[in-house]
Amino acid sequence: MVKAIVGANWGDEGKGKITDMMAQEADIIVRFQGGANAGHTIVNDYGKFALHTLPSGVFYDHTTSIIGNGVALNIPVFFKEYNEVVSRGVPAPKIMISDRAQMVMPYHILFDQYEEERLGGKSFGSTKSGIAPFYSDKYAKIGFQVSELFDEESLKEKVERVCEMKNVTLEHLYHKPLLNPDEIYAELMEYKKMVEPYVGDVSLYLWNALQEGKEILLEGQLGSLKDPDHGIYPMVTSSSTLAAYGAIGAGVPPYEIKQIITVCKAYSSAVGAGAFVSEIFGDEADELRRRGGDGGEYGATTGRPRRMGWFDCVASKYGCRIQGTTDVAFTVLDVLGYLDEIPVCTGYEIDGKITTDFPTTALLEKAKPVLEVLPGWKCDIRGIRKYEELPENCRKYVEFIEEKIGFPITMVSNGPGRNDIIYRNR
Ligand code: GDP
Repeated sequence: MVKAIVGANWGDEGKGKITDMMAQEADIIVRFQGGANAGHTIVNDYGKFALHTLPSGVFYDHTTSIIGNGVALNIPVFFKEYNEVVSRGVPAPKIMISDRAQMVMPYHILFDQYEEERLGGKSFGSTKSGIAPFYSDKYAKIGFQVSELFDEESLKEKVERVCEMKNVTLEHLYHKPLLNPDEIYAELMEYKKMVEPYVGDVSLYLWNALQEGKEILLEGQLGSLKDPDHGIYPMVTSSSTLAAYGAIGAGVPPYEIKQIITVCKAYSSAVGAGAFVSEIFGDEADELRRRGGDGGEYGATTGRPRRMGWFDCVASKYGCRIQGTTDVAFTVLDVLGYLDEIPVCTGYEIDGKITTDFPTTALLEKAKPVLEVLPGWKCDIRGIRKYEELPENCRKYVEFIEEKIGFPITMVSNGPGRNDIIYRNR
């Protein structure tokens, strides 16, 4: 059976930790979308790792880690990360890369930088990993699949054709140096050497695994609100962040996805531009940022400070609904132990009306948070393993949010480690 682990909000909810934890029981972990533009932070017996493209199952020797066809695969970044993990004592992970995955080309990264430069203050806050230019090219049908590396003559011809197009934009829009197709071809030949041992027919492999009763985890990147269709367009990412897309980006039948674990953080954080209704500022935000996550809320890819806010029931109810949530994993609850009182955003006021339904972007820009204040629990809850042992106010916080979002919180995470988890019997 297939289980998806996805985010309810803007990303950074703690999906990496939940995936690493659930991978103990799984056979295969698949990344199905996105690229090296976001990171998962994982703390386990080998140390602390920031993974960008490796699936979060690489720390076990019983699992196979897969790059699905939906991923934006940056080959040098992938192997740099692979080598780093191995050099820190992790046994060489079993890897398979879809022959249908497309590659981030060196010029995608350049185009990302040039476009952000051109937009200046109106930029989207891209991580400049080439993701938007990559997916634009994929859907414009001028992207490069891994499989194309193995047909050298056609590849060479296509590289020339694509460079011709790219060079028009480089010359006339960005006024930047032109691409040399020979150099790009040579680089692709280097990529080929790196990936060759790992390339395979992923959807067939997964199909066979399902026939054998294997357990497959789909690991999402970012969260519902960054989805290009259902998120805060245009301040979104360029590939679908939803569990439903997992079926496409991994190549498994949609009906095999039996469990959708939506990860939701006990407060909010976001990176990049875009409306963020429950955002807080100043000292209040600085303190939460400093205490947040595991060592502060700073981007795993860019190191930039994340924007902070109180828990947003409107955004999370929507984020969970659009994922098709069966279970909510409620994370980083331990961090809130310092607060006397904890505000929670329970509604949006838009043009004088209060709603609990998440609106489209133009209305979202106008929304003001309706806050309710809950009492804090003022103690450290790390190390607790039974739900009943959590302080009463802490349980009330969890249950208040569960009621507002309307999806069952079946796991509560109270620390960054694999074992910092409380299962709730429901
Ligand atoms: P992801 O992209 O969704 O995997 O999230 P990130 O890795 O960017 O951010 C989550 C951060 O919170 C990481 O630093 C994790 O180690 C940390 N983390 C995850 N769960 C918990 C938790 O329950 N408590 C604490 N304190 N930190 C956590």
